Amino acid sequence: MRLDDKVCIVTGGASGIGLEISKRYADAGAKLVIADINLDAATAAAADLGDDHMAVLMDVTDPDAVQAGVDAVIERYGRIDVLLSNAGVQIVHRVEDMTFDEWRKVMAIHLDGSFLVSKAVLPHMYERQSGAIIFMGSVHSKEASELKSPYVSAKHGLLGLARVIAKEGGRKGVRTNVICPGFVKTPLVEKQIPEQARDLGISEEEVVNDIMLGNTVDQQFTTVEDVAEVALFFAAFPTNALTGQSLVVSHGWFME
Ligand code: NAD
Repeated sequence: MRLDDKVCIVTGGASGIGLEISKRYADAGAKLVIADINLDAATAAAADLGDDHMAVLMDVTDPDAVQAGVDAVIERYGRIDVLLSNAGVQIVHRVEDMTFDEWRKVMAIHLDGSFLVSKAVLPHMYERQSGAIIFMGSVHSKEASELKSPYVSAKHGLLGLARVIAKEGGRKGVRTNVICPGFVKTPLVEKQIPEQARDLGISEEEVVNDIMLGNTVDQQFTTVEDVAEVALFFAAFPTNALTGQSLVVSHGWFME
């Protein structure tokens, strides 16, 4: 599947899953916009991809920053074909120990961020009657785990947001889908292994083998490459037949 000359914005594209998706899209011929709160890492990632690509500083929770980033993309390329809304963080505590600020931070980055970036790119997609929006969900869009109240709530919420945009965008050439990965070894996951071990009172090995991989069919982590393959499929799919959907890629942790 190819994305020749398609302009693709990847939020949180400077690290982990978003970085690998950016590479996969660039290999498929796309022009990449790495939009991230970490401008140094985004600039380095875009430079690695080559001259056709750009970095923008974007805190996805800040409406002005989102609009400024999207304006900069339009100024350079004149169009936006694909939005991969991927920026994310994780904070793990039981509900009674989660502060309201922590709850709001996780909800804001995942859910407000996906709303704000979609809101900013949709007029440009509607103008050209064409576009694909992909949200980075999770198995936690469909399943719950202890310690992850805002994350699970936000990831469930993304399914709803995707379905609304799929309906609103259907006659305007825009399709919207959600990728739902299992655990992928990125900085976001590495950080939570000791945190979960502490909060659950178990060893780090037990967190990995029982909590993260216990329900997989083969005790394997999903990889950034696995997720990037699905991201390419959703971005390059040629028609609106595939919209309002979610695809779980998790070594069978969650089946539906
Ligand atoms: P990561 O920590 O490697 O990358 C996250 C990126 O988001 C970083 O570059 C970070 O700077 C950026 N970011 C954070 N806050 C931001 C903000 N306010 N505005 C813009 N950028 C911001 O994490 P990852 O594991 O690659 O996660 C990427 C996405 O994949 C997240 O939405 C995460 O929930 C989702 N996900 C991850 C896993 C996993 O196991 N790693 C599984 C399912 C879903």
